[in-house]
Amino acid sequence: MGFPQPRPTILSIEPYVGGESKIEGVNRIIKLSSNEGAFGVPPGAVAAMQRAAAEMHRYPDGHANALRAAIGRKFGLDPAKIVCGNGSDELIQHLILAYGGEGTELVMSAHGFVMYDISGRYAGCRVIKVPERNLTADIDAMIAACGPRTKLVFLANPNNPTGSMVPKADVARLRAGLRDDILLVLDSAYAEYVQSPDYDAGVELVDAGTNTIMTRTFSKVFGLGGARLGWCYGNADVIDVLNRVRGPFNVNAQALAAGVGALEEPGWVEKSVAHNAEWRGRLGEGLRALGLTVYPSEGNFLLVDFTEAARAKAADAALRARGLIVRAVGSYNLPTCLRITVGTAEECTLVLEAVKAHLRA
Ligand SMILES: *Cc1c(COP(=O)(O)O)cnc(C)c1O
Repeated sequence: MGFPQPRPTILSIEPYVGGESKIEGVNRIIKLSSNEGAFGVPPGAVAAMQRAAAEMHRYPDGHANALRAAIGRKFGLDPAKIVCGNGSDELIQHLILAYGGEGTELVMSAHGFVMYDISGRYAGCRVIKVPERNLTADIDAMIAACGPRTKLVFLANPNNPTGSMVPKADVARLRAGLRDDILLVLDSAYAEYVQSPDYDAGVELVDAGTNTIMTRTFSKVFGLGGARLGWCYGNADVIDVLNRVRGPFNVNAQALAAGVGALEEPGWVEKSVAHNAEWRGRLGEGLRALGLTVYPSEGNFLLVDFTEAARAKAADAALRARGLIVRAVGSYNLPTCLRITVGTAEECTLVLEAVKAHLRA
């Protein structure tokens, strides 16, 4: 008897493994495995979702007008150049399905965010992973990796899981080195956390009229990972394509309301970013003082190298025994490393104490 078969590339996809949130037999869990903001959900977003709950018999606004206007106000952008999505993952998938597909190539950096690989394979693209330098995207090598079939180039900036950032002049050089018919997708999920002055999340390249699109998320600094909400900023032709292919009601009404509430929460981003800058520094220094290699990070997480896979695994186990869940990154071909989200001051202190106790044991 025959049975339905998916397209050949589908079974080459390794299912995405999210950050774990439970440990058998441990009561107090501290989850530092998904780069969720340190301060939970903005109170204004909670209130907005509660208000929206009473209206859930209504379909959401399929154009996300209020949310796009709020994003426009917050970031000084034209709402007509914005599309909202069910997480930025949804927008990434649509971009790849719309511009990629069988017979095309997608170029990304070797340790780039895994969703480009998953959605690229789903679309039938050949996914080309370009070796990095010092765990940072190698711009010249990415340009050189593009061939006549290349339709999409993805750069997470800062990148997850490495934390590395490509300075704005190099991103501009990447764009300039690509054919005009290649879409450059700048995934700026961690843009708010960046401290370097040498950074463009993508707005400048989009506004210069290049074939570039910037994706952003509410899952990190805005504390809404559970609501599934992302957005992108691009030029008219790409925005038009996304509006044709997305579901008519791709963002649910509670997420729309939560997004506006989060954007309007007074001081939220400032407080979160100041905390992150301080504790990313303290956590990194503390771990370096224990003899570990900590890569420079512009995100709300640190990539820590234990030099051997077995040592990373042992440290992971020791942290878990104390209820601290961090992220193993073997699937990113970084088996000697762990990625640790910058949590609250208490959480960071507990991580430092746990790693210290483990290394001394
Ligand atoms: C967390 C993250 C996202 C966000 O995805 P959502 O679907 O918006 O939750 C996107 N890109 C990168 C690199 C990330 O780390």
